[in-house]
Amino acid sequence: MTKEEEKVSDSQVNETLEEKETTAPLAPETGTRDAVRKIPIHKLDIKRLIELDACTRCGECLSWCPVYDQDSKEGLIPRRKIIDFLKIARSQNGFLAGIMKSERIGESLKKVIAKLSGYKEVTREQVEEFVFSLYECSTCGQCEVVCPAHIDTIGLWEELRRLIVRAGYGPLEPQKALRKSVMTFDNPWQQPRSGRTKWSRRAKKDNLIAEEPREIKKTKGKVLLFLGCTASYDANVKQVAINTINILDALGIDYGVLGADEKCCGSVLLRMGDPEYKRLFSQNIDQFNSLGIDTLISSCSGCFKTIMQDYPKIAPLNFEVLHTVEYLARLLKTGELTFSHPVNKTVTYHDPCHLGRATGGFDAPRMIMEAIPGLTLIEMPRNREYSRCCGAGGGLKAGFPEIQGRMAQRRIKEAEQTGVQELVSCCPFCYQGLQVGIGVLESDIVMKDLSAYIAESLLGYDIFEKAAKEAEEEKRMKEEAKAKKKLEKEKEDAEKKIKDEEEKIDKPE
Ligand code: SF4
Ligand code: SF4
Repeated sequence: MTKEEEKVSDSQVNETLEEKETTAPLAPETGTRDAVRKIPIHKLDIKRLIELDACTRCGECLSWCPVYDQDSKEGLIPRRKIIDFLKIARSQNGFLAGIMKSERIGESLKKVIAKLSGYKEVTREQVEEFVFSLYECSTCGQCEVVCPAHIDTIGLWEELRRLIVRAGYGPLEPQKALRKSVMTFDNPWQQPRSGRTKWSRRAKKDNLIAEEPREIKKTKGKVLLFLGCTASYDANVKQVAINTINILDALGIDYGVLGADEKCCGSVLLRMGDPEYKRLFSQNIDQFNSLGIDTLISSCSGCFKTIMQDYPKIAPLNFEVLHTVEYLARLLKTGELTFSHPVNKTVTYHDPCHLGRATGGFDAPRMIMEAIPGLTLIEMPRNREYSRCCGAGGGLKAGFPEIQGRMAQRRIKEAEQTGVQELVSCCPFCYQGLQVGIGVLESDIVMKDLSAYIAESLLGYDIFEKAAKEAEEEKRMKEEAKAKKKLEKEKEDAEKKIKDEEEKIDKPE
């Protein structure tokens, strides 16, 4: 069947066609094995073209990029990525490229034109090297903050990733597993859909929550708590979901969750340049908009940023989107949230890239920490818009785990230098990422999510310590009862034995 024949005006078929168009590699320029596939630069909008042109090559981004800090390859510098992309684009597009690729022009004339114009054809290796550099980036946004030309680098990197996925160069092999998992299981952790609510059943059984969160479709609550894949599936991060539930319950918030109907927010697909993100976004938007909610809150900075900033580019949302700490900071301002129990700790705070730099959410977590009695914050030298990325985002952890590990260690060392015992953040992804650094360094620093301190100050105790003590007490009581029973049995046996002996003695021969 030809491409033309496939264009039947059936929406489902069109959808399939669109998928083919966006995911399948474009045809190579030539039939050779090492052919360079064309990157569809015509898909870039004018804003991106202007941005590519706006780079002054000042090099400010060089000294701030946290990936380059750990892997000093020239190709990783944001400036270099722009230069390399333009080199590829010019080699493949435009008037000169058209002449050089024309079969009607002889090779000797092409040589003369190349010499006069400085035209150079890029090789497949050069393109692949650029692709590698484009993915060795956590999309942390630091380059965007320091860029004097105000280039929207994150938007640019994501757009360029989409182009190279269209051209069949990306994502990288190790990142493909994430895509497959999201497409198969609706989560990037290769866990079955049925396991999404397992944490709450377990938490209820372990007395970490009073009741399992109710499904919003049944309660018709006005606040949707979007838990996200990491807090739902990762046993080490379950404290984020548990503490959030306890906070909302303690405040009597009329909220609900999606339960088994919750799907990945799609952030991972968007950041890696995978066009499937659109389908996932649309499905989620339809579901959210049908709920009649006023507010969607999420304790995951990645989910929050994606739903708040990226979803509206696909379709409008009929509710507001807040990170849980922003929602709580608002309640703090109106007096609906007050902290009475002290949390006597001195801590340092890591701004998640997706809450801080991406959305400007610097004040809410600090306002909450300031309001919790007994809690003292010591800032790291790199904080707020200059917060050093932990390396967990943008597909970097999947594609370059060693670099992510080094970035996390760098951040942990910074936290250690403040002299505190605990490092707090408000993102399950950062929690996971920074734990890698703590593990490798065998650091004594303890990783916390801000929800832990909020819950502790509201409840008057750390729910995990309380549940552990209760479990310990229950175990001790069970063992005591068992020992008592054993003792009674031994006593009973001994008495019976004495009685039998006595009866033997009393019995005449
Ligand atoms: S987004 Fe972050 S990791 Fe990526 S190039 Fe910019 S500074 Fe480097
Ligand atoms: S800081 Fe901005 S203008 Fe300067 S080299 Fe980097 S991307 Fe280009």
